Amino acid sequence: MSFSLLKWVAPPPETMESPVPREESVEWFRCAPFILIHVAAICAVFLLPFTWPCLVLAILSYSIRMFTITAFYHRYFSHRSFKTSRLVQFLGGFVACSSGQRGPLWWAAHHRMHHRHSDTEKDMHSPQCKSFLWSHVYWFMTDYALPTYLKEIPDWLKFPELRFINKLDWIPVISLAGGCYLLGETQWAATHFEATGWQWLSWGFLVPTVALYHGTFSVNSIAHLFGKRRFDTNDESRNNAWVALITFGEGWHNNHHFFPGSVRQGFRKREFDPTFWMLWLMSKIRLVWALKPVPEWVHAKARD
Ligand SMILES: [Zn+2]
Ligand SMILES: [Zn+2]
Repeated sequence: MSFSLLKWVAPPPETMESPVPREESVEWFRCAPFILIHVAAICAVFLLPFTWPCLVLAILSYSIRMFTITAFYHRYFSHRSFKTSRLVQFLGGFVACSSGQRGPLWWAAHHRMHHRHSDTEKDMHSPQCKSFLWSHVYWFMTDYALPTYLKEIPDWLKFPELRFINKLDWIPVISLAGGCYLLGETQWAATHFEATGWQWLSWGFLVPTVALYHGTFSVNSIAHLFGKRRFDTNDESRNNAWVALITFGEGWHNNHHFFPGSVRQGFRKREFDPTFWMLWLMSKIRLVWALKPVPEWVHAKARD
């Protein structure tokens, strides 16, 4: 582990190189906020008074951000499964970035590599090649996973606003945390929500952010280990309804690995995929368009 402070406080690196599998070390300094958010969320749950509006706030904060992670970080930036305007593209990326899962370009680059090397030695988060804990959280904390591999995302490099937010990925996180605290301190919040700024910070940011980490991470860990395999893909991806429930449709991961280009991951009507339903609604008011459907040959294959 290097003790160069400069290396740790500089923005996360960007590189045109490809990652080289090697012994990885945890970036403890950079991961301090990630660990502190967990500790603070646990303290908040046990030490601060709870009121029902807090739960409503937590569900809202989780739902909005989970939707932007699945719709924008995953289905848009990683797979380009629909089109949208430059403004909506930025807003989707900004809100998703407030989840503390690094920037949109970092996320898309790593995810594209995951699809290309799923469950092989080159896959950064395979529970098949390494441990469950590795695939769930440990890989995210290493220096190996830290750079944004620009070669993977040539299509996004022409947008300076995306590159800016990717470099300074803490800005949306601090904006949400600070915004929650300040809003909670207002008279309006005190009258309508019976909660203080600290409670707003806890239930609007800390608790749902921890839930978002582990919800998203469960796709990499649980959905490559437990569930049904409808399609015989070259990896160990699974369809897992519980993961789909907490990730708004991402748990149909075997469907997704078989045909990643579709905006829809629940290929059947009864497969819970609210991210798709929301995008479909947004397409009705032209906020997004050109939603890529599941082709008939894929449906036919699924029926076999
Ligand atoms: Zn996968
Ligand atoms: Zn994907």
